[in-house]
Amino acid sequence: MDPGDINKFDGYFWQALALSLPEEGVAHCFPDEPSRLERLIEVRWPHGPKCSNCGNEGGSWIKTRRLFQCEQCRHQFSATSGTALHRSRLSLGVWFGAAEAIIQYRTRYFIGEDMPAHALAQKFDIHYVSARRVRKIINAEIAKGDAGILLSAICVRPQEHANF
Ligand SMILES: [Zn+2]
Repeated sequence: MDPGDINKFDGYFWQALALSLPEEGVAHCFPDEPSRLERLIEVRWPHGPKCSNCGNEGGSWIKTRRLFQCEQCRHQFSATSGTALHRSRLSLGVWFGAAEAIIQYRTRYFIGEDMPAHALAQKFDIHYVSARRVRKIINAEIAKGDAGILLSAICVRPQEHANF
């Protein structure tokens, strides 16, 4: 899907999305990396981890590597394997916070403006190029319409209009 499709959504869509965010903010709701990782795992596999290689359900958690290991094929996979966040060097805090900031920016200005990459870079103390990439990935997740793992993780109060 063309990332430009992000602009097909009207003000009501963005309002509903903003209302689905935690009332006290993402940083308050998920204050550290372990809590964010736990949230991703809970959203992705509500019934327990599923192997991305053989599809077997059930794996053991390797704490030191922050990976699951499949009981059947021994494949190791992370909570973000096969998602838009896979192999990102940025912290989950940046991803969670940037998604919230992008949604709130759209809502605040109502006219459908994208949050400037330099503002995103400054807010999360990341490089401008990273900020552009983060924004592109988050916009693509939103444009898909079906909540990707990141949106599902931060939208703790789903609203009817947002189709989540
Ligand atoms: Zn497996």
